[in-house]
Amino acid sequence: MNKRYIFTFSPDIVNRPIVSEIAKHYDVMVNILNADVTSGREGKLVVELEGADGNIVQSLEYAKEAGVECVPLEKQLQFDQDQCVACGSCTAVCFSGALMMDADSWELLFDPEKCVVCGRCVKACPLQLFRIAMEE
Ligand code: SF4
Ligand code: SF4
Repeated sequence: MNKRYIFTFSPDIVNRPIVSEIAKHYDVMVNILNADVTSGREGKLVVELEGADGNIVQSLEYAKEAGVECVPLEKQLQFDQDQCVACGSCTAVCFSGALMMDADSWELLFDPEKCVVCGRCVKACPLQLFRIAMEE
């Protein structure tokens, strides 16, 4: 099982190493795709959990009991690459590195594995080539 979640930490638990506790206690690999965490403020992580189904369920229960809000990332970005004119506007707003210009060809490269479905590129593209849809 391999599933993405948004973990939200309230200010009082933002410094607690809950992600490493999950990995240690439940044999779940936690891949952090994006992080917005500052001491003393609410924090958000986009994580991919990889492991046995039961272990992931248990690790999510552990995180929730510790006070973490765990919301599955069920949306995906759809992209009409054939229409792209490589203007680069979307790369300027994509903080996860999912959208980049190829240094040699100056074509747009899209890596869906890095996309955290924040929607910034949807607003940035003058040709409206991005769309957010629910995962099937
Ligand atoms: S939705 Fe767009 S801007 Fe946001 S991470 Fe995905 S590709 Fe980048
Ligand atoms: S903003 Fe739209 S047209 Fe410009 S590079 Fe990105 S996808 Fe292509």
